[in-house]
Amino acid sequence: MNTEALIKKIENQISSFETKVDVTEYGIVQAIGDGIARVSGLANCKASEMIEFENGAIGVALNLEEDTVGIIVLGDYLSIKEGDKAKRTGEILSIPVGNDIIGRVVDPLAKPIDGKGGIKTDTNQLMERVAPGVMTREPVSVPMQTGIKVIDALVPVGRGQRELIIGDRQTCKTAIAIDTILNQKGQNMKCVYVAIGQKKSKVMRAVKALEEAGAMDYTTVVLAGASDSSSLQYIAPYAGVAIAEYFLDKGEDVLVVYDDLTKHAAAYREISLLLRRPPGREAYPGDVFYLHSRLLERACRLNEENGGGSITALPIIETQGGDVSAYIPTNVISITDGQIFLESGLFNKGIRPAINVGLSVSRVGGAAQTKAMKKTAGPMKLGLAQYRELESFAQFGSDLDPQTKAALDHGSKSIELLKQDQFSPIEMTKQVGSIYALNNDLLKDIDITKVAEWEKSFYSFLDASKSAVLEEIKKGWTKEAEASLREAIVEFNDTFSA
Ligand code: ATP
Ligand code: MG
Repeated sequence: MNTEALIKKIENQISSFETKVDVTEYGIVQAIGDGIARVSGLANCKASEMIEFENGAIGVALNLEEDTVGIIVLGDYLSIKEGDKAKRTGEILSIPVGNDIIGRVVDPLAKPIDGKGGIKTDTNQLMERVAPGVMTREPVSVPMQTGIKVIDALVPVGRGQRELIIGDRQTCKTAIAIDTILNQKGQNMKCVYVAIGQKKSKVMRAVKALEEAGAMDYTTVVLAGASDSSSLQYIAPYAGVAIAEYFLDKGEDVLVVYDDLTKHAAAYREISLLLRRPPGREAYPGDVFYLHSRLLERACRLNEENGGGSITALPIIETQGGDVSAYIPTNVISITDGQIFLESGLFNKGIRPAINVGLSVSRVGGAAQTKAMKKTAGPMKLGLAQYRELESFAQFGSDLDPQTKAALDHGSKSIELLKQDQFSPIEMTKQVGSIYALNNDLLKDIDITKVAEWEKSFYSFLDASKSAVLEEIKKGWTKEAEASLREAIVEFNDTFSA
């Protein structure tokens, strides 16, 4: 071989040279306890990177310190020992998602826990993702019907909105969320219910209710129970929104319920204290606000160029003694577009769902209300406010003028009509029917004790013989639709009183 050819050959070899060195970085566990591992030797580790331990458990790097990395362990941390190896995966925390995740109950790492076998997945969704920018968004304008009269009429929610459900223990918070999911049947909506820090038996009961109503056909449940580690509880809502974003990316509408963020904040506080982050107000770390705003900002309604999908978020917050001025409640109130405020006092009076109409608001949902509902329910909020004033003052006097008497009668009937059983969402058109009757004095001759019965039989009457009227209302609120509705109510009232 001549020199020329030799040089060429060497040149070729140099240019096609590849390093086949294993660059995986390993670290050593220095300390482990309470689900937190301190690992040294992971010099290039990124924040939120997944770390694999020798026992197969996955962890997430949260604290990048000078000599060590603070890692929350998401799997079995009891069998990790000091001196164990920990491997960088190079990947930011993500979960595998596919269409098959619908109808399943999964843990925050998207592993099935319902015993129905594996889930076929097609992509990895990042748990942390930057929320869509303002140029890709569109204002809320499509209703997200909850099927709960008092909400749809007075605090309407639109697709892409963030509406907080807030109240003490045992005040129908979960019930409202589950009923809303039930009502999404046939509405072209995917639902994700994230249960954080609740008793598993309670969540499984909710899942059973969803199953029985056929609502699991479009719902995924992410469960991090009270007995799970705080690390798992901490990442659960991010798993939920990552699943929602999988469908958002396909241009679909999704509803996510976070039940509840109080427990989520408590889990984060625990982790932060264990990671020795400095405690702030109520011992929460300083970035607990950012934690929730990052999550809730991911709710959105995208414009057509970006797929036109939406994520509606219903975060739940538990208060103590109705105190909404505590740290976490005020934070989440300020991040959301309104709140549904529940009170145990109302609950005990038999007003269920126990919604305080005066303190509940929806800052953007009005734009998404159907015209029929807007027109019929419009005067109701004011009427109820007047009723509350009159009620307190009518307690003292017995001689009331007829006008006041009529206002009191109307008010008490409104409250009676807004009561609703659990697991029985009502279609928008029927809601319009009964609220129209109330606000147009067509319930004047019905005794208050008969209002519930009237309502029930009225809906059956509409279903049985007035489906054309319901169709008309669905199409739009026209003079003709209103006239036929009024006619139907009058016709029904005749038979009802008889
Ligand atoms: P927790 O703080 O324990 O999570 P919660 O605020 O989520 O409670 P739920 O569990 O939804 O409240 O409801 C409390 C109780 O009230 C349950 O027993 C439920 O069955 C009942 N309940 C909820 N909604 C209604 C309703 N509309 N009518 C009658 N009972 C209801
Ligand atoms: Mg609950």
